[in-house]
Amino acid sequence: MTYQTTLSGPALCAGVGLHTGERARLAFKPAEANTGIVFVRTDVSSAERVIIADGRHVTTTQLGTTLANEDGVSVSTVEHLVAACAGVGLDNVIVEIDGPEVPIMDGSSTLYCQLLMQAGLRQLPALRRRIRILKPVEVRDGGKYARLVPSEVAGGPMEMRIRIDFPSAAIGEQVCRFTLSPGAFSESLAFARTFGFANDVEKLQAMGLARGGSMENAIVLDGDNILNPEGLRADDEFVRHKMLDAVGDLHLAGAFIEGIFEADQPGHAINNRLVRALFDNRDAWEWTTDRPASQVRAAAARVSSGPVARAQI
Ligand SMILES: [Zn+2]
Repeated sequence: MTYQTTLSGPALCAGVGLHTGERARLAFKPAEANTGIVFVRTDVSSAERVIIADGRHVTTTQLGTTLANEDGVSVSTVEHLVAACAGVGLDNVIVEIDGPEVPIMDGSSTLYCQLLMQAGLRQLPALRRRIRILKPVEVRDGGKYARLVPSEVAGGPMEMRIRIDFPSAAIGEQVCRFTLSPGAFSESLAFARTFGFANDVEKLQAMGLARGGSMENAIVLDGDNILNPEGLRADDEFVRHKMLDAVGDLHLAGAFIEGIFEADQPGHAINNRLVRALFDNRDAWEWTTDRPASQVRAAAARVSSGPVARAQI
């Protein structure tokens, strides 16, 4: 049996958002069992500032995943942070943030992973619940697809298989297989940076996006060439990053998944459609414990909306 976890103590960091270019400070704080991952916007009035990390609350997936609550208060570019939580095996955490966008850091999950591991995890007296896939669920977009199918081994971790194929010779066709476990994530995926093409970055910046984007926090390509002077962290860093993104996007299902994830040319949009399709096909999965989901909502709703200490940076 596996028990739920939270942090042993708080962890603090700060950085610049990829799209807004705005600096934000983050404070990760321990949370009670069945809270899940909950963002608290400390720069917003108390009644409206709690945002639950739930795939059904995703409002946009353009170049990143944005979550919003019923009052329209949002937090964007959450995926690398949520992937780090899933990657280290953290079930319950409150993430206080004093701005609208999660800092991009170096474009990977490395710093979030290190921060959470340094804070340490402790077990809570509640069993971890997982989503066990019973029947295939698939979404398609032209030639792209993403699907969840039942695992061949009951009780095992999520197994993931992704293929990407880009016309740039620097990327080409890449395939990645991965089994989600804390050690494996920090070793094989956490370091992989996000990537983009220079002409797209220029267009985005003209649209007021990617303001914080630079070679400090992304692999930048120009056609077949990689512009970053330091080169790649792994030959297949691109598909590893797509896998990292998928770990974060799928964890917005609100629990670890027991099943197999397979995708061709995945992205935030199709990954989120898969999470929604999963919830829309209630006979395609079951909870591995019998605790009703209403308890989870109740715990998330109890997250303090009172005064919160500012990050000491
Ligand atoms: Zn990403």
